[in-house]
Amino acid sequence: MKLQGKVALITGAASGIGRAIAETYAREGAAVAIADINLAAAQATAKEIEAAGGKAMGVAMDVTNEQAVNAGTQAVVDAFGQLDILISNAGIQIISPLVDFSFADWKKMQAIHVDGAFLTTRAALPHMYKDKRGGTVIYMGSVHSHEGSKLKSAYVAAKHALLGLSKVLAKEGAEFNVRSHVICPGFVRTPLVEKQIPEQAATLGISEEEVIKHVMLGDTVDGIFTTVDDIAQTALFLAAFPSAALTGQSVVVSHGWYMQ
Ligand code: NAD
Repeated sequence: MKLQGKVALITGAASGIGRAIAETYAREGAAVAIADINLAAAQATAKEIEAAGGKAMGVAMDVTNEQAVNAGTQAVVDAFGQLDILISNAGIQIISPLVDFSFADWKKMQAIHVDGAFLTTRAALPHMYKDKRGGTVIYMGSVHSHEGSKLKSAYVAAKHALLGLSKVLAKEGAEFNVRSHVICPGFVRTPLVEKQIPEQAATLGISEEEVIKHVMLGDTVDGIFTTVDDIAQTALFLAAFPSAALTGQSVVVSHGWYMQ
């Protein structure tokens, strides 16, 4: 049990990558807060984790809403007594050529990915800074924190921004024993990616098979999707790591799509 006695708040944890991290953390002994804009799904996820023997709660949280983030974070601390790990993971994807990208969609993307990361971090830090007890903050970046791709201007800009935020937190948090990282997955077949396959096929005028083979996996070393478990295991390794030898890092998990 690598996270025995720890409390983790994971945003966007009612689905995909966030959910897999929550399940893994719970198996390793952490109490997990499933924070999601979809409260019913968050509660259902928490129930399943509890049924499997873990400790979990569902929390309503739209990460773009300052009050909701502050109240949700406080509710977790009230219920579990502390906060040791924040996984800022909630995210969406909107694709369009840059020339047509609507300003409203651009702002929505920055709000969820960048404002959400800032707001959840700011709400979590006082609990980690208290008595210098420390903690770990992990941002869900992407290969798109390092690389560009057609049709993804808002996403790529937002994911690059997380690297900057994480580096500042690694420096400011050090004296309080807070560490900070960005995990950068390649393509993982979650609902976020399933939705994109037909959208990219239509926009690029190619088949769905070609989107998968060439656009999504073309630059990997083996043509294989990254899995939610690959990311959950990385998040476990980073949260359980015992010292600040590892802080301020970006860890790319992508079958070699992007090599640092
Ligand atoms: P997903 O669609 O399976 O899950 C996203 C979750 O976020 C959902 O439960 C959704 O309800 C929640 N959410 C959406 N908007 C929210 C908001 N405003 N407030 C709170 N919760 C909100 O997606 P996923 O693939 O698991 O993606 C999770 C993260 O991983 C995202 O940040 C995404 O950019 C990143 N990522 C995904 C991939 C991939 O290939 N799937 C690759 C790299 C990075």
